[in-house]
Amino acid sequence: MRLTASLSGLIVVAALSNCKHQDGSSYIKHDFAAWDDMEDTPYTWADISAADFMAQSRHPLTPYPNSSPRQQRLNAWMAAIHQEIKTLNPKLAAPEPKIFLVKNDEANAYVSPATACLPIEIIYKGGQASANNSTNDLVFSRLIEPMQIYRGPRLEDTKAPCHTLNIAENDLAIALKMVFGEQYRCLSKPNKTSQMAYRAELDLNCAGPIWTERLSSFARAPRVRFTQIANQIVVHDKLFEMSEGQLVAVLAHEAGHYYRAHGLSHARTYDFFYKLDEKHNISSRPTPLTSDEEISSLGIKVTGKDGRFLALYGLPNQNWHSLIYLGIAVSATSLPNLCSDADCNTQCLDLARHMQFAAISAPNAPLSSFPWTPAPKTNEAKAFYQKFEQLLESCAAKIPITADNELDVGAWFKNWPIPDQIEVREPLAEKNILNALKKLNKQADAMINERNSEVFALYEKANKARLGLYTAEQEADEISLELITRLGLPAKDAITGYIFLSRSTESERPKNVSIPGKLNAAQCEAALNKGFPEFIPIADYSDSHHSSCFRAYNLWRETKAHEGDMSKITPQQSEPKLDSALWRRLQVNRT
Ligand SMILES: [Zn+2]
Repeated sequence: MRLTASLSGLIVVAALSNCKHQDGSSYIKHDFAAWDDMEDTPYTWADISAADFMAQSRHPLTPYPNSSPRQQRLNAWMAAIHQEIKTLNPKLAAPEPKIFLVKNDEANAYVSPATACLPIEIIYKGGQASANNSTNDLVFSRLIEPMQIYRGPRLEDTKAPCHTLNIAENDLAIALKMVFGEQYRCLSKPNKTSQMAYRAELDLNCAGPIWTERLSSFARAPRVRFTQIANQIVVHDKLFEMSEGQLVAVLAHEAGHYYRAHGLSHARTYDFFYKLDEKHNISSRPTPLTSDEEISSLGIKVTGKDGRFLALYGLPNQNWHSLIYLGIAVSATSLPNLCSDADCNTQCLDLARHMQFAAISAPNAPLSSFPWTPAPKTNEAKAFYQKFEQLLESCAAKIPITADNELDVGAWFKNWPIPDQIEVREPLAEKNILNALKKLNKQADAMINERNSEVFALYEKANKARLGLYTAEQEADEISLELITRLGLPAKDAITGYIFLSRSTESERPKNVSIPGKLNAAQCEAALNKGFPEFIPIADYSDSHHSSCFRAYNLWRETKAHEGDMSKITPQQSEPKLDSALWRRLQVNRT
């Protein structure tokens, strides 16, 4: 059996978007008022209590008490941001986001998904649905709109906590339409079975072959699970080392992710290439390059879209090369399929679950973006990695090399989304996958060094060509700039915040790969102080955030592009206002 793996969310797609351009007369680049495509999907967001949020968190959180002055100050800012958004777009259904302030020495803040359970029993009809009596929650993946039913080998973990949506009969259809998408028409009208509980029938034949294939082994689903955007925004208290304005800019960036529901990859398109002007940003969203332009095909290469290799970072005392970690991270859900007995299946499911939590592309995963960015030096990250090694060894030792996969563990690797850099340089005829992996592990360094030099030559080319890549992160940055202007804060706070983050990352994460064109915090600060005399490239094409210095540079360019427009904004007059004396007290008093 072949391994298939998908890197959705990780590898960027060169989308030829039909993104809406604002007309030239508008000063608003990110037209908050035009965010009307979400007005009838209030279930995009979870209005979730702190306790429910914590129960669903995949890693330990040490929250501040509600009464904390720090927490209250940030909530006041977030309320002001929400007020601003509601004024600009009264129809937006997103509930007010709350700050979930935690003790953590890594400079980070993030918006998280949350799993909702709809108390509706779904009886399957058609297909071979009635052949047995087994049940399983019907799980919709959070990947792409429209939501899709889960693909993995029952990794949905139907025991994982979810928050129950107590939903009135009148609102049920709205939620079901959003979750089922086109397949809503295959669902019978729900009956109320008790207070806030419902039942409906789903015709699998109507829903289509994927549904018949995945759901025919079940007779019914006791409930429906789907992912929402939690209205609890996690902020690490390390960020209190920033100035108040810088931290408010971070909140505004997270607000951009939150209101735009970036975590659900809404139908809007991101991740398209464009050509950066040498001096300024343009005032509208950039125009995507068409795929046949040379610079665009260069972009496809440097973002790994063509399956080529990107720079990989390592960890101290690592037994397994990052290349192996990456391969397993993206293909773990398929590993149980290679098992031929129950014991193997159990071990490999454990590994798959663990790696699912790694969710390389999730901002709150313990090893988020690793190995494409250095791993954080936190105990959590270390423990997570160690557990990976343990689980990998027990799973791989149990996967036999059979007629199916023996020919070619090399080809097996080539099915990973990082093909090509794995060359099998000696025969890998082994009894199990573990031994084969061990051989590859030994060869990995040499392969990587060869590939890195080739890839970095491409990076240099992309830098020189001023290749731009418009990501959700870039949009969130640009939204934050506009929001803080509306709150009456200086734009420079958003810009210098990235110097702080850059410096902080340099001290937190050991660095063992240097990316061409990437400036460190000191170099970036010097460039900023001189008014960025030189063009700053994206440099880090594999990270949707781009390099910190590019982020600072991009926002600096935004202020130039919107100079006239920004001055037309009348800042919100209400509280809070920057208060340096209060902020100094909050910085010192860590409660
Ligand atoms: Zn972000």
